[in-house]
Amino acid sequence: MNPYHARRPRMRGERYLKFRCTECGNCCSDTIVPVTDEDVRRLAAGMGLKAADVATLYRESDFDDKGEGLQFANLEGGRRTLGLLKRQDRANGREACRFFVGDRCSAYAHRPVTCRVWPFTLGFDASGRRVSSLSINPALPCPYELDGRNTVAELAADWRWDDRQDAAWAAKVSAWNRAHSTGTRDEFFAFLGLA
Ligand code: SF4
Ligand code: SF4
Repeated sequence: MNPYHARRPRMRGERYLKFRCTECGNCCSDTIVPVTDEDVRRLAAGMGLKAADVATLYRESDFDDKGEGLQFANLEGGRRTLGLLKRQDRANGREACRFFVGDRCSAYAHRPVTCRVWPFTLGFDASGRRVSSLSINPALPCPYELDGRNTVAELAADWRWDDRQDAAWAAKVSAWNRAHSTGTRDEFFAFLGLA
C-alpha cells in the first residue's frame, strides 16, 4: 500500500499548525479576559498573590457581546462573572491585563487556560476524538505569521482542559445561583474557595 494513503485524513485549516504569535499584545489589551475559579487559584498560587489581586467581577454590559456564552452569578447589584484584573499600561496608554508587563505576559507559566487556547478554534469529528478542523478566532485582530510550529496533540489537550474547566465552572455558578438570589463578592469568593 502506498504509505501516503495510510496517513491520517487531512484536517481543515491544517496550515494554522504553523501559527506564530507576533506578540502584538492585542489579546492582552483592551479586552476583558474571562476566567474560572480554577484559573484564579492557579494564578494566585503561582504568582504569590491573593485571588482579589488576580481577578475581579464584571457585568454583562462590560462585555461588547454582553458576555454571550459566559456564566454569570447572582450578586449584589446584578449578575457578575470573573475576569482578570486590568490596569492602565503607561507605555502605550492602553488598558491591559494586569499581568501584561513590558509587552510580555509576566504570568506565562500560570496563565489562564483561555490564554493558552487563544486564538485557536478546534473542531472534532463525530467520535469527538480526532481534530477535524483548526481555525483562528476572529474576535480580535491577530496579526500572526505562519512560520511557527504547533502540534495537534498539544492544541487538543489545551482545548479539552478548557472544556473540562468551563464545565466545572458552569456547575459551580449554577449551584451558587440555585442557592442565592444575591450575595457579596466576598461571599461568592468564599463559596468558590478563593477567600
Ligand atoms: S494572563 Fe498573560 S496571556 Fe493572559 S491576558 Fe494576561 S498577559 Fe495576556
Ligand atoms: S493577538 Fe495574536 S499575534 Fe497578537 S499577541 Fe495575541 S496571539 Fe499574539
